[in-house]
Amino acid sequence: MTCTIDSKKIDDCIEFHGHVCPGLSIGIRAAEYCLQAFGHNSDEPVCAVCETDMCGVDAIQFLTGCTFGKGNLMHRDWGKTAFTFYRQRDGKGARLTMIPGALGKTHERAAELMKKSVDGSLTAEEKTELAGLRVAQQTKLMEMPLEELFEINEPQTPMPRGARILETLTCAECGEGVMESRSRRMGGQTLCIPCFEGMDQKR
Ligand SMILES: [Zn+2]
Ligand SMILES: [Zn+2]
Repeated sequence: MTCTIDSKKIDDCIEFHGHVCPGLSIGIRAAEYCLQAFGHNSDEPVCAVCETDMCGVDAIQFLTGCTFGKGNLMHRDWGKTAFTFYRQRDGKGARLTMIPGALGKTHERAAELMKKSVDGSLTAEEKTELAGLRVAQQTKLMEMPLEELFEINEPQTPMPRGARILETLTCAECGEGVMESRSRRMGGQTLCIPCFEGMDQKR
């Protein structure tokens, strides 16, 4: 089985992101799972929770239609290669985590050579070897079965609640409007986060 997203879409996704990289490919494959299991957001509203802020998130946004601005793409800053997709209609979802070592020996050798490349000790032959390994890695990422790349489980948490219409409050310190859910209270006053943090430091 190879990636089922058509190559034109993938090229557009690479253009959107700006370069080809393993991280983007991982995101493309995760998005592929979402499209297969639940569909594209414009046909069947979905939402995505990404536990990383790496390259792959661009593929999720570009290919599934879940975007940060629409509120159906959420970032949890946990530094894990994990993506959870939910179908909004019934909250059914799946969490995909990249299987450690899924890329096998090729990846280990590439990582070793990358390290040498950083400290400048890479020989000309090794340079060629590394270029070859990167191509092989890329091909593998795009062609391996999804279940060999990701562990696919039930979501760990229920679907996040959608963006609600919240009141805008006024910060007592800077006078700017701030969404209710992001406001803070101190000494009976309503504050925005930066003002709250500023006062907290003065105490
Ligand atoms: Zn990238
Ligand atoms: Zn303020």
